[in-house]
Amino acid sequence: MQRFTRLVQPKCTQVQRRFFNIHEYQSKRILKDNGGKVEFGIACTTVEEVEAACAKIKTPQKVVKSQILAGGRGKGHFVDGLKGGVKVCKDTQEAVASAKAMLGNTLITQQTGPKGQHVNTVYVTEAVAGIKRELYLSLVLDRKSASPMFVGSAEGGMGIEELAHTNPEKIKTMKINVAEGIDNDACVAYAKELGFTGTVAERAADQIKVLYNIGKAKDCTMVEINPFVELENGDVMEIDAKLSFDDNAHFRQNEIFDLIDESQIDPKEVLAAKHELNYIALEGNVGCLVNGAGLAMATMDLISLHGGSPANFLDVGGSATEEQIVAAFQIILGDAHVKGILVNIFGGIMRCDIIAEGVVNACKTLKTDVPIIVRLNGTYENEGKKILSDSGMVVHPVPDFETGAKLAVELAQARK
Ligand code: ADP
Ligand code: MG
Repeated sequence: MQRFTRLVQPKCTQVQRRFFNIHEYQSKRILKDNGGKVEFGIACTTVEEVEAACAKIKTPQKVVKSQILAGGRGKGHFVDGLKGGVKVCKDTQEAVASAKAMLGNTLITQQTGPKGQHVNTVYVTEAVAGIKRELYLSLVLDRKSASPMFVGSAEGGMGIEELAHTNPEKIKTMKINVAEGIDNDACVAYAKELGFTGTVAERAADQIKVLYNIGKAKDCTMVEINPFVELENGDVMEIDAKLSFDDNAHFRQNEIFDLIDESQIDPKEVLAAKHELNYIALEGNVGCLVNGAGLAMATMDLISLHGGSPANFLDVGGSATEEQIVAAFQIILGDAHVKGILVNIFGGIMRCDIIAEGVVNACKTLKTDVPIIVRLNGTYENEGKKILSDSGMVVHPVPDFETGAKLAVELAQARK
């Protein structure tokens, strides 16, 4: 599950929020270092490393797990038809063959979108024997109660998304009062609700506390364990782990944010982050360069209203520099689908002349023939417009927002 909102409020999936995600093997290292119970494993990027890892893994069976920043791997498939991004293998030979087939391949799951994600690392782990039950357990931030909340279900494993829709009553929750902290008795009672009994319920409660403490200490927006398992011998374990972090906590979680795997992120988004631009790639063909998130959203709406489709969300912020504007153009034009760019600026703190300088500079350096439609309004508007007209560049100035959106859609469609 990508985010908790998807589990309980399917209508909210369109809310654009980005959280920093790390791989399963990285999440499990954090769990292990903080009292979690995870199986032994080694992250590998080559077949030779997989062979060496298998020699260190004590169980005869080995599990080979594709490391991508999305769930649903077990039920996923690769672009070449290979089934399953998680394979329980009977021996080293099978594990090596599986890893060979996965490394360098692209895995498509319910969460990756149709393009899938490239697998450049596999996590080779011990096979956990004697699994009695697979549960779903996650710690999320509940907007309604404005508190951390555990979400769990005795029927976890790989079908949790369906369960949330078909049998929502089977999802059990426990809210935590951050001021009071997590309470042991409440954890034991919650573990019992999830079907644990006796000393196993106490073990499960201990792990619930471990997960809460990690979530709190590391500024997690989500700690998702699916499956959280009960073993025949009465132990409990976290067999899959997905941690997401609040981007706003970057400044105090440098060690975690250093774990970034840029190979798994759209390079345009990586470049945008470097230039402190608020950018999200979308599927359409009209590139947008806007100041202010609200105006950016409204721009996307107006493009859609006029029959077009935005290629991105891009908010240059309130005080962008000329360099940032050039970088923004570079990012927008890095998307081959872009057939027109709408620059929609309402100059408040942002000066229209700085935007105009940026547009001219970008046109000169990037030498694009994609039509650029510019609406400038507000601070230093006349200076900005003069810079554009004096530049000799082919840009399409428009008097207002709606005219701009219409023209951008028209020109983009004409280039198809
Ligand atoms: P995903 O959620 O992306 O499909 P998981 O890590 O949850 O990936 O693996 C899918 C399923 O594979 C699990 O529900 C579990 O049944 C099995 N599995 C995963 N890791 C192990 C392991 N180390 N030992 C035994 N079974 C495992
Ligand atoms: Mg899982």
